[in-house]
Amino acid sequence: MERLRAAIRDIPDFPKPGILFKDITPLVKDPAALRLAVHHLLHPYIGRDITAVAGMEARGFIFGSLVAWELGVGFVPLRKPGKLPYDVQTISYDLEYGSAALEVHIDALNSGDRVLLIDDLLATGGTAKASCELVEALGAEIVGCAFVVELDELQGRKKLERYPVHSLLHY
Ligand code: 5GP
Repeated sequence: MERLRAAIRDIPDFPKPGILFKDITPLVKDPAALRLAVHHLLHPYIGRDITAVAGMEARGFIFGSLVAWELGVGFVPLRKPGKLPYDVQTISYDLEYGSAALEVHIDALNSGDRVLLIDDLLATGGTAKASCELVEALGAEIVGCAFVVELDELQGRKKLERYPVHSLLHY
């Protein structure tokens, strides 16, 4: 895990003053670190009959697609509003300032699906909770949520207490 930690860069005051942003682009660029991250993300879910991986725009697409590939299942993108071309299910959720929304195609998942949710980072948990609810709105089941990074002091895990949460690195 120290190999992964070393590949994550701190960017002060991004995107706003006072925020220390965890930049995962050096990790994604490093083939050995990327392989290690994908391996550890999916490891608890081998043999758990996962039928699909869902990932949040945009960094969840990177890790989620690779995890889906390794598990031999398909990938479902959860996108910002207005990006998906077919009929969508939408969920809105509160941010610290204002609100946001995510969308999924209504036929992307159904009641037989056992879904692994993947994102790069768990902060307050608002994005992940909304994503779980979006998946459930299509009738599918969340088997687990996995993140490369978890910012412990923001207590996002509490918002996800209904779901098993697995994070590779804690800050
Ligand atoms: P939350 O909804 O848990 O507060 O925020 C998590 C979402 O915001 C994730 O989709 C994540 O990609 C993004 N995010 C928030 N802070 C950071 C950060 O420091 N680094 C990265 N890479 N993503 C972040």
